[in-house]
Amino acid sequence: MSTEIKILKQVLSNYSKPMTLNYPSAVSPDRKYSQIPAGLRGIPERDNDKCIGCRACYFVCSGRATSIYDSDAKRKVEIFLFRCTFCAHCQEACPEEAIKMTDKFEIAVAKREDPSARVVTELDLLKCKICGTPYASKKFVDRAYERLMEKIDQKVKETVSSDFKKVDGYCPDCRRANGVGFDTHTKKHVWLEGA
Ligand code: SF4
Ligand code: SF4
Repeated sequence: MSTEIKILKQVLSNYSKPMTLNYPSAVSPDRKYSQIPAGLRGIPERDNDKCIGCRACYFVCSGRATSIYDSDAKRKVEIFLFRCTFCAHCQEACPEEAIKMTDKFEIAVAKREDPSARVVTELDLLKCKICGTPYASKKFVDRAYERLMEKIDQKVKETVSSDFKKVDGYCPDCRRANGVGFDTHTKKHVWLEGA
């Protein structure tokens, strides 16, 4: 076979089959590189009902992708996906298991402001009864009390519950400034002796 014919055959064969690989979203089982690999760690998603606005995900975020915005009455917990490194630290740290890493990976948008580039949860904020400063989300305070009551030793449950209610509605500064007295620490030795 002459060289010219060989080249012609090669050129024609290039037109008889696809020259590109399928994009992963076009899943085709018979194509080696067209699959989303098992275990791929993609975009984090947040369950708005579970999130209590505790900020743990914000403190551990390796990409500084998570931000907390507090306004007068609302807390916004936001992940900006263009900064996300998909490290999953937020999923590990979340005490409410509100964050799950998914196998979704498409985050391209035409404009930075596009809402699909963000994962947003909004929560109601409590205001201090004394100074009026917003200090924590209502869901966070309610959940903290619930967890405390679940875990606490029955012997001290009543005292701790009463202490918790003494500061309910006060921001940390007003608690300190108003010298709220607790029974929890002063009675600690009594509990230990009685244990
Ligand atoms: S509950 Fe989870 S997702 Fe919500 S702020 Fe806390 S760590 Fe973040
Ligand atoms: S996956 Fe990592 S970088 Fe992305 S939001 Fe969570 S902690 Fe931040």
